[in-house]
Amino acid sequence: MGNPADEVPMIRLSYNDVHNAIQKTADKIRDEFAPTLFIAIGGGGFIPARILRTFCKTTSEGKKRNIPIQAVGLVLYESMGGIAEKVGTEVVRTQWLDFSTLGTNFSHGGLLGRRILIVDEVDDTRTTLMYLIRELKNDIEKQLAEVADEKERERLREETKLGIFVVHNKLKPKAGSLPPDVTYFSAVDTPDVWLAYPWECDGDIEEHDAARVNNIKP
Ligand code: 5GP
Repeated sequence: MGNPADEVPMIRLSYNDVHNAIQKTADKIRDEFAPTLFIAIGGGGFIPARILRTFCKTTSEGKKRNIPIQAVGLVLYESMGGIAEKVGTEVVRTQWLDFSTLGTNFSHGGLLGRRILIVDEVDDTRTTLMYLIRELKNDIEKQLAEVADEKERERLREETKLGIFVVHNKLKPKAGSLPPDVTYFSAVDTPDVWLAYPWECDGDIEEHDAARVNNIKP
């Protein structure tokens, strides 16, 4: 998506704005979802996922452990059609999960039995998230099909959870509704403005921060 900053109001965000927003939501994410795997959507979800990892650790054998972050690359091509009729079809994968590391210690590829939290910086039209949920559900079904024992398969199906965390959710019509079994967290709800993230600043980051006004507080 291009930056439509000339046409719509823009809100600049500092690194600390993003960090604070994530920190304020982290307790809720830990308490209500307790993720065991992050899937960061690149590139906007990379830094938020890393920040969130600081606040969400798992405990095993009395030790706090970092939650692994896997990355996917998804590009949204707007030119390929209207949102409502073509949901998901204009998203192209540039990178996918690395099952060779994800599946270590698992016989089935590594998604099953995990509480998988997708992380992105912004939920705009929701096209990207709809695509990713659909594709992950397909991969989960493929892995479930590999489990021969029916009881074990149903146990793993029950234990495998999908959630979404976005730093900003734009309050606007979305490309689709998320399935009811997907837990959704947003740190900040925003009007339909252009959000200028600090990692996109290709000029002077101090000037970017100094020009930051009307900031959105979580
Ligand atoms: P979607 O429309 O699928 O929800 O969002 C697609 C992608 O467009 C987002 O992951 C993000 O990279 C980009 N995007 C949408 N709105 C904004 C925005 O306000 N600021 C920035 N920097 N990127 C945005």
